[in-house]
Amino acid sequence: MAVPQEAPLSILVVGGAGYIGAHMVKSLRCAGFCPVVLDDLSSGHADAVGEAELVVGSMADPVTLESLFLRHRFAAVMHFASFIQVGESVSDPAKYYRNNVAATLALLEAMRRAGVGRFIFSSTAAVYGDPVYSPIDEDHPRNPVNPYGRSKWMIEQVLADYDRAYGLRSVCLRYFNAAGADPDGRLGECHEPETHLIPLVLQAAKGRRDAISVFGCDYDTPDGTCIRDYIHVSDLCDAHLRALHRLLEGGGSACFNLGNGQGFSVREVIEAARRVTGRDIPVCYAARRAGDPPRLVADARRAREVLGWQPRRPDLETIVADAWAWECQYPWY
Ligand code: UDP
Repeated sequence: MAVPQEAPLSILVVGGAGYIGAHMVKSLRCAGFCPVVLDDLSSGHADAVGEAELVVGSMADPVTLESLFLRHRFAAVMHFASFIQVGESVSDPAKYYRNNVAATLALLEAMRRAGVGRFIFSSTAAVYGDPVYSPIDEDHPRNPVNPYGRSKWMIEQVLADYDRAYGLRSVCLRYFNAAGADPDGRLGECHEPETHLIPLVLQAAKGRRDAISVFGCDYDTPDGTCIRDYIHVSDLCDAHLRALHRLLEGGGSACFNLGNGQGFSVREVIEAARRVTGRDIPVCYAARRAGDPPRLVADARRAREVLGWQPRRPDLETIVADAWAWECQYPWY
């Protein structure tokens, strides 16, 4: 006699066609969940969601949300659908507050109406602003210095209020520098325009751009360039899965830093890329980029202790090598 199988839990992945969201969809499927993607494809790629159901639409649209929540009983919602460019958030803050704040409120409203009470939110190290100590733990003052960081911090505060008032439990995951690509080679980072250091360095290695511009070499750091904590996208996904299990098991709202706790300068990233690719990477030096703190390094002990999270691909060369493998097999370059 067939053993009755429990249906896999459905998880709504908003922004699941984007870089981190698509990796998450794959991780959820591998872990036995049924991810359903809502994405407006403004920057995501429909083919990145694989076998998962894709609903093309906006999280700001109550009609789309209502029909989605009527068709599925979601055990939780994961939210990756943000605008992420700091410079753009300064020049066009309305775009950031409209999408990252107002549209997220619409999503939370739909969850409340549908009685879905678990939420995992992609937050950012940008909520801390200019660090007053390093490494940065979760209790470091939150003092974001640009509209992008403020939009994320606003939602974190909204979530704390929603938990107190409505019992909506959430986990806010404050990413440091997400990087790398699916080690199986099926997914990778593909922003348009690309602004992130590692893909840009690899595009220069590939000859797709003339050189990598280093934004500032007069910072108060050992080699004068900015230091960041690069964390592999697969390790980010693993932390999300652990956060999901915590909420499913009844755990309370929390926030966690996600980083390796080790900082690398822009020059060190370029050197790692030279070693990994074996290619010459032309460099040009440019002015500092507005709003870049010299050093952002995570103290992620809380995620290790509470979630049992242990990054499996912490090594910078591994992160760059996975990104390079993706860059090399990308068919249209
Ligand atoms: N960076 C750079 N050249 C570029 C892109 C980035 O020198 O073309 C530097 C940037 O100033 C920062 C670091 O690389 O110090 C990481 O930037 P990225 O945009 O990847 O991430 P962020 O730290 O802004 O989240």
